[in-house]
Amino acid sequence: MRLDHLALTSFRNYESFDQDFDPGVNLILGQNAQGKTNLLEAICYLSRGSAFRTRREAELIRFGAAFAELEAKVFSYGREQTLRALMFAGRRPRQLFLSGVKKSGREELDGVLNTVLFTPEDLLILKKGAAERRRLLDDALCQLRPKYARALEEYRRLLAQKAALLKDHRDDPGMLSVLPEFNQRMAQTGAVLIHTRARYLRELAQRAAAHHAAFSDGRETLCLRYQTVSTIENPFAPLSELCARLQAHQASHHRAELESGQCLSGPHKDDFEATINELSVKAFGSQGQTRTAAISLKLAERDIFAADTGQMPVLLLDDVLSELDAGRQDFVVNQIQSGQVFITCCDPARVTNLGKTIQIENGCSLS
Ligand code: ATP
Ligand code: MG
Repeated sequence: MRLDHLALTSFRNYESFDQDFDPGVNLILGQNAQGKTNLLEAICYLSRGSAFRTRREAELIRFGAAFAELEAKVFSYGREQTLRALMFAGRRPRQLFLSGVKKSGREELDGVLNTVLFTPEDLLILKKGAAERRRLLDDALCQLRPKYARALEEYRRLLAQKAALLKDHRDDPGMLSVLPEFNQRMAQTGAVLIHTRARYLRELAQRAAAHHAAFSDGRETLCLRYQTVSTIENPFAPLSELCARLQAHQASHHRAELESGQCLSGPHKDDFEATINELSVKAFGSQGQTRTAAISLKLAERDIFAADTGQMPVLLLDDVLSELDAGRQDFVVNQIQSGQVFITCCDPARVTNLGKTIQIENGCSLS
């Protein structure tokens, strides 16, 4: 999968932008506030139909302009396609086009240009709370496995209903009569989540470890370990056994759930632990190690996507080079050779000997 060309009119701080890209590395170079991230945002918008820094479309239109237009020439699944988006100031809804044909919703553009985005916030994913790591798994799995997406939606719905029940049962004890049914269904869908997460994480761990080893010149071994409900010793067990174990956990937490009014049992608390050379990254990882491991995770996610779909997603790396030493920076800029990569960076010393460097100044490309 490849982005060959991008043209922007009145998008963010770009009045007009028109540029061909390299099929390999594209280094977007410029000082702060010149429009580097805006460029990645435009690519992302065409890929996903939404921006990653705002939900308000109006913010994407250049101040004072009546509309914004984005157009990309993309090569995917063996053919050239054009993605185009038009957004308007005011109430008129945006319009999306695929190779000249107007589409009614963003789902119709799904898969034309797949991107894996990495922002500075993602760098700290291994230091943050479990919810962030669950989101990493869920986001990838929802795209790759429709069955998982359905199970997750169902699980979340059941969880919200059970949470309401646990909160209000003192006022209306009759409500508790439906609790066993909720528990049963949550154990069934929860088992699907655990089954899928365990397998995905096993693959992610293997691939991320290989990237991390290359990053650190073989000095560091990255391991990921899935953490789920305590009664489950083997998350690779058959679904029926996972379900039974989840029910056992629910039973042992029944009283505590009633007393606390909270849902304490189930895979909504899942997490994974990362270690480097057997030390927890969360507790002991240095800045550079933590960032390297996070980038390795994203590269692994991209590999899995490529293996599953036969198409390598375009990698968008926003500002990931700071705090990495020269060797690790070099790895990002020069060694990620598979597929197409866009890397934003402020430091002219990082200019790569591969691919293309695009210099951005005040919403203009200088090349
Ligand atoms: P940094 O290195 O600090 O991350 P950057 O090159 O990534 O900088 P961007 O985040 O792309 O910078 O933003 C560049 C500028 O775009 C900002 O100064 C912002 O004020 C401006 N900008 C954002 N939205 C709009 C808009 N709708 N119209 C005009 N300018 C905008
Ligand atoms: Mg930026």
